[in-house]
Amino acid sequence: MDFALTDDQQALKQLCHDFAAKEIAPHAGEWWEQEVFPSHVFTAMGELGLMGLLVPEEYGGTDVGAVAYVAAMEEIGAADQSVAAAWNAHITIASLPLLAFGTEEQKQRWLRPLAEGRRLGAFGLTEPEAGSDAAGIRTRAVRDGNEWVINGNKMFISNAGTDISLGVTILAITGQNEDCSKRYGSIFIPDGTAGYRKGEHLKKVGWHSLDTRELVFDDCRVPADHLIGEEGHGLRQFLDVLGTGRISVAALSLSLASAALAMALEYATQRQQFGRPISQFQAIQHKLADMATEVEAARWLVYRAAWLYDAGLPYAKEAAMAKLYASEVANRVVSEAVQVHGGYGFMREYPIARFYCDAKILEIGEGTNEIQRSVIARALGC
Ligand SMILES: Cc1cc2nc3c(=O)[nH]c(=O)nc-3n(C[C@H](O)[C@H](O)[C@H](O)COP(=O)(O)OP(=O)(O)OC[C@H]3O[C@@H](n4cnc5c(N)ncnc54)[C@H](O)[C@@H]3O)c2cc1C
Repeated sequence: MDFALTDDQQALKQLCHDFAAKEIAPHAGEWWEQEVFPSHVFTAMGELGLMGLLVPEEYGGTDVGAVAYVAAMEEIGAADQSVAAAWNAHITIASLPLLAFGTEEQKQRWLRPLAEGRRLGAFGLTEPEAGSDAAGIRTRAVRDGNEWVINGNKMFISNAGTDISLGVTILAITGQNEDCSKRYGSIFIPDGTAGYRKGEHLKKVGWHSLDTRELVFDDCRVPADHLIGEEGHGLRQFLDVLGTGRISVAALSLSLASAALAMALEYATQRQQFGRPISQFQAIQHKLADMATEVEAARWLVYRAAWLYDAGLPYAKEAAMAKLYASEVANRVVSEAVQVHGGYGFMREYPIARFYCDAKILEIGEGTNEIQRSVIARALGC
């Protein structure tokens, strides 16, 4: 088994490392405190070819594959989780529905500007009354002549309210089958469409500079050709895309865990108590050893899920396992990293405090960890 990155993958990782060190890490604390979404960072990432990593070149992307994307995420996420969270949503759940199910015309019209990094993408599944239970959504799209008329609300949607947002792909109920079960469709709503309104930026525990809002659709009309994929298949399509999204959130979690470990290690070698660096105390050494071991285990679960994706092999169970484990490791490791920092770890001027606040959502977003456990149990035959 070869765990080494190829030269191209290594070069991409280095590019992301250099970009993050110069353009993200020095400013991330300020953006977080001021709850500012740094649009210019995404425009710059687009110019470097980083906004369409899973999209073929014919639609403006670079199509480097999931393993390379995970390697890149390790660098971007270690600099700032809010930027990395917006990037994660853009690369996977916002772009992949258009790639997998869009027509040629839709790909050129909407996927290309996303992949080239000229605009930012969003994906709207969650509603005030439906999160884990995706089939329980209430937003309706009714066909009226050559248009869809949409009414309903989406909750906690990332990336839809920035000055570079292109629009949002939503899941809506589009009708009813003979057995009374609901039919679903995915519909792209461009920014600026009449009847599409965005709520205020939501104040969060972490990911402060990620744009997160409620979206309201009030007799919002879009042309019939804004349907993505087949009418009636929308729920299946969204669940497929969420499978890939899990590899991405797992990578985001890995990036947080390894950044927290690095910060704890550095602090432990510098902080002196009782006349010596605290890294010389066995209690601290054992914490660091446990943290490093868990990060390493998470790393290979995440890369394995990405490798399966790239190889075109089934990856749903492994993606759920990677997301579940890496997000829990991220929370354990960052908590121990704060402990290693003592009281300073509780001060917001220390980046470790920001990472601590950013960690919890990793166990909730893109399928809670309870749902991941159910996905894994189903795959085991339960
Ligand atoms: C910062 C942020 C950004 C987000 N971005 C997006 C986005 O861009 N697009 C989008 O569509 N959504 C987004 N979300 C929504 C996110 O995906 C949901 O919050 C998540 O899926 C959980 O749904 P919920 O909040 O409604 O919780 P609920 O589904 O109400 O769950 C509440 C609790 O019940 C548990 N639970 C529910 N059902 C079961 C079950 N069957 N078995 C066991 N336990 C269960 C859950 O695990 C959880 O612990 C975002 C959320 C946040 C906080």
